[in-house]
Amino acid sequence: MRKTVKIVGIEVDKLDFLEAQEKVAEFLEGDSLNMIFTPNSEMLLDAVKDRELENILNEAQLVIPDGIGVVIASKFYGTPLKERVTGVDLSTKILELGAKKNSRLFLLGASEESVTGAAEKIKERFQGIDVVGVRNGYYSEDEEEQIIDEINQSGAEILFVGLGAPRQEKLIYKYKDRLGVKIALGFGGGIDIFSGTVKRAPEFYQKAGLEWFYRFIKQPSRFMRITKLPKFILLAMVDAATSKY
Ligand code: UDP
Repeated sequence: MRKTVKIVGIEVDKLDFLEAQEKVAEFLEGDSLNMIFTPNSEMLLDAVKDRELENILNEAQLVIPDGIGVVIASKFYGTPLKERVTGVDLSTKILELGAKKNSRLFLLGASEESVTGAAEKIKERFQGIDVVGVRNGYYSEDEEEQIIDEINQSGAEILFVGLGAPRQEKLIYKYKDRLGVKIALGFGGGIDIFSGTVKRAPEFYQKAGLEWFYRFIKQPSRFMRITKLPKFILLAMVDAATSKY
């Protein structure tokens, strides 16, 4: 039985990093597809306005809180999440576990340079992982079906989709009955982080829950996206207060 906390209508798993890791290990042992999504405040706020995204998140097998705002919001509902579990940290674990089993990985998303660079870095760092395919994320809609066939023909067991939210979640959901993989992860900008194109915030910012602030100083164009954090906190506060009655 999954233990979750419902935050602004979305069920988020109540797991710490170690427990999330165990879940992922189970997924790799199984045969069916497991959708893993990693919402932050911004994605949850978008889901409130986007019914389709809300349903997709609620049908996932694992939803982890990739954002300090989500952890803060869980406290209003009286069932606090233990910690932030980031998509990048969980994907690292998936690759470590996959490396031991010689799992096959497909990377979809980001620029051609970034996705091929990420594949190279992953092969070096996680020896045992078989990168069976890469595809950049700049394609037209008519190519989508053929990309899904390519993923299936590659025999991939793990699929990381880094197209940005909510496009990646919608793609995974649309093809959930056709994809032959065991794990399909919504990866955001994860491919850029693995390739080294984008640097992750230093540990100080991560531990202080200030990774969003670091991203903002590095990319001021993200300003409008960051304003969603206080909006989300406020919305969760009101939602938690009203859902008690
Ligand atoms: N991207 C892509 N195709 C597109 C638009 C974006 O593959 O048409 C990639 C982009 O190169 C980047 C990722 O999607 O690697 C989005 O990164 P971001 O950090 O914005 O993710 P989010 O915060 O939305 O999860």
